[in-house]
Amino acid sequence: MMDKLNLRTFAEGYPGKLIEQDPGISFTQVAIDSRKIFSGGDTLFIGLKGNRLNGRQFSDEAHLAGTRNFLLSQETPDTNWSEKLPGANIFLVENPLDALQQLAIWNRNQIRYPIVGITGSNGKTIIKEWLGQILSHQYRVGKSPKSYNSQIGVPLSALSLESYHQIGILEAGISEKGEMEKLNRIIRPELGIFTNLGTAHDENFTNAEEKLIEKCKLFSGSRYIIYRKDQKAVADYLEKNRERDKLISWSEVPGSDYTLSVKNDDAGSRIVLIKPDLDMFTFYTAFRDSASLENLRHVIVACLTLGMKPHAIQKGIATLRNIDMRLTLKPGINRCNIIDDTYNNDLAGLEIALEFMGLQRQSGRKILILSDMVQAGNEERIYQKAGKLVGHYGIDFFIGVGERIKAFGEYFGEKAYFFRDTSHLLENLQDFKLEEDLILIKGARKFYFEEIVKKLEEKFHGTVLEINLNAISHNFNFYKQRLASGTKVMVMVKAFAYGGGSAEIANHLQSLGADYLAVAYADEGVYLRQKGIRLPIMVMNTDVNTFHLLDEYRLEPVIYSIRIFNELIHYVKNHSLFPSVHLELETGMRRLGIDRDALQELASLIHDYPELKVASLYTHLAGADEAVHDKFTQKQLQQFSDMCDKIIAFLGYTPLRHVLNSAGIIRYPEYAFDMVRLGIGVYGVEVSGREQSSLQQVFSLKTVVSQIKELEKGDSIGYGRKGMMTEKGRTATIAIGYADGFDRRFSNGRGYVLIRGQRAPVIGNVCMDMTMVDISGIDAKEGDTVIVYGENIPIYQLAENIGTIPYELLTNIGERVKRLYYLD
Ligand SMILES: *Cc1c(COP(=O)(O)O)cnc(C)c1O
Repeated sequence: MMDKLNLRTFAEGYPGKLIEQDPGISFTQVAIDSRKIFSGGDTLFIGLKGNRLNGRQFSDEAHLAGTRNFLLSQETPDTNWSEKLPGANIFLVENPLDALQQLAIWNRNQIRYPIVGITGSNGKTIIKEWLGQILSHQYRVGKSPKSYNSQIGVPLSALSLESYHQIGILEAGISEKGEMEKLNRIIRPELGIFTNLGTAHDENFTNAEEKLIEKCKLFSGSRYIIYRKDQKAVADYLEKNRERDKLISWSEVPGSDYTLSVKNDDAGSRIVLIKPDLDMFTFYTAFRDSASLENLRHVIVACLTLGMKPHAIQKGIATLRNIDMRLTLKPGINRCNIIDDTYNNDLAGLEIALEFMGLQRQSGRKILILSDMVQAGNEERIYQKAGKLVGHYGIDFFIGVGERIKAFGEYFGEKAYFFRDTSHLLENLQDFKLEEDLILIKGARKFYFEEIVKKLEEKFHGTVLEINLNAISHNFNFYKQRLASGTKVMVMVKAFAYGGGSAEIANHLQSLGADYLAVAYADEGVYLRQKGIRLPIMVMNTDVNTFHLLDEYRLEPVIYSIRIFNELIHYVKNHSLFPSVHLELETGMRRLGIDRDALQELASLIHDYPELKVASLYTHLAGADEAVHDKFTQKQLQQFSDMCDKIIAFLGYTPLRHVLNSAGIIRYPEYAFDMVRLGIGVYGVEVSGREQSSLQQVFSLKTVVSQIKELEKGDSIGYGRKGMMTEKGRTATIAIGYADGFDRRFSNGRGYVLIRGQRAPVIGNVCMDMTMVDISGIDAKEGDTVIVYGENIPIYQLAENIGTIPYELLTNIGERVKRLYYLD
């Protein structure tokens, strides 16, 4: 929330056309999503232009929510605004995003307290969160919610900084050249932190140096820049290009401003600080992994630079706990679904969590369990705003935990219950008869809400498949961007969405704006409908036994032969139904499809039964991912095009035409026709091999170490005694086997897993429910997390090792493996 601003004041300094119908009104906050407006009167609605949508389209909705200030794109012909948005002030500009950024710059210029700006390849969000937590023991801190670090996220975060804060912390991320200059103007950090420079190859930069230079633009004008001297490229660049007195370096070893060396022990780690004046201090932390320890040392140096004393910093570090920062959707007891967000609790975070909740399918009640808010500012105003949010998002049932929230209980409506602390709630939890409800659990760390989650979540054995919904969004948008703007996207969610869980993923795709879904068999479509999915669903392999499901569940069958067409007609006539159908054309896949020489017959059937509306025509490419098949692919495309023309001629209208699968979108974007069929790519695997680094990892399959054994040279391991210790060493038994989808072909060293970041090869044969891996030389402990597929363990390589393809590994992940969905 910012100081009151009036559109005219802003328009004076920014080019555009102002239509004023009520010059008196002002705003104190901005919204870019009309569904999220809950205090319309104080809001400026900004209609951003996206890939597919222009936010302008939603101005009616925003008006309905009470908004009377609009910043929209100028379009021709102009609208009659007094009719469309009566009583509102409208500022029409060429580029609304640029105007939003300008507004953020304006707000930044009002701020007199220091801002910390964080950039780098990894750790930005963690450093921001930890720094915020430790500093908040001493200062009133404002910071960006979650990882809001983009061209849109940064200005929105900057606009949430208020006059009562004493320090602001914002993170900045870029994906291409030219972006950081804009972010720099919005953040203008007094203190900059460069976290580190990853080695990941980045499409939009010629080389790592160019990326480094771009990132460092965040610090132009900064008074101090914190970096790690052991990061050689970063140190070299900054030391050559910035004045010495601005640089604050730290390192493992002497030679920089702060030496921060680490010693691991069983309880955690000690970080020994030696300051420039040789003063020493030892910090203690429970973290042992190198990423956390690097992040923590950046935080320590930042706190010291901002004037905190070492023992005060230590107090803060002691309260950091390694719990999940992510918003996670997981199955709960009694068929409930749980949204777990037990990391922090402020208004911005609450809003994000409620919005996420709003996007979920739901059968029972919407329940919110909320602790006292941890946020600086006018307490009453904060709870009042929280109450408004709760009302806006239609919570059916509210449970508040803590003395403060109870004191402001009046703001949370009638169906609100309050407990003084978490243990009190836990004792009474069974009274709420939770069943099939959607429960958002959101609390500040000190309330230990993970205890509530533990009690309510479904119990499971140690193996989980984590699905990163943000990565699905990223991948979806990546493919979307490669297509002309009108091209529709059908997403393949067959085979349980390639193993990920079709209902949750379909639901997410629905919110991303996918146009169509496709499944292989009717029962997959029925399941999606039962789970509340509303998008049109195409069923590829229909048969006569499932026709009765089509109408009830609004499924659209594929007609792939004259036989199935006749059978469908027969059924439709008897039941007087008029379904939309899709025609699959045979062009060379030789799986399903209507042959070219059957077109005559097809024409006469269509002529006789015009009530069957043809929604689309498609064919499937047999070798879209490989250049060796290019000629064949061209022939398929040509033949498809010819067949389409003929069919359209006798049909008399033009259905959607579609050919491309994921690899096809990359390799033949010029043949996108009206729609594409996106599959494996949205799940993070780029099978043409060209663009893997542009996609984000969606799936992480994780399990745990159940037992560790110290073995002698010559000891055999597992069934058939196939594993053999060639030296004295150690094995770990992990809780995953071929029944969970860990392929038996991974036996005897063909597969490996990651434990503590190191590769542990499979030793002996994979068993049904367990596997033994060689951990000689790895400092592993029982209970450690094991990464089976995920970051740093590319699934296409594993697949290649055993002569299969990523599709098979993903779709084989067993049903008993619990799926967790999160936003990071
Ligand atoms: C599975 C499938 C796709 C998607 O293929 P990907 O390689 O996963 O992108 C597209 N079209 C049809 C007909 C399919 O069966």
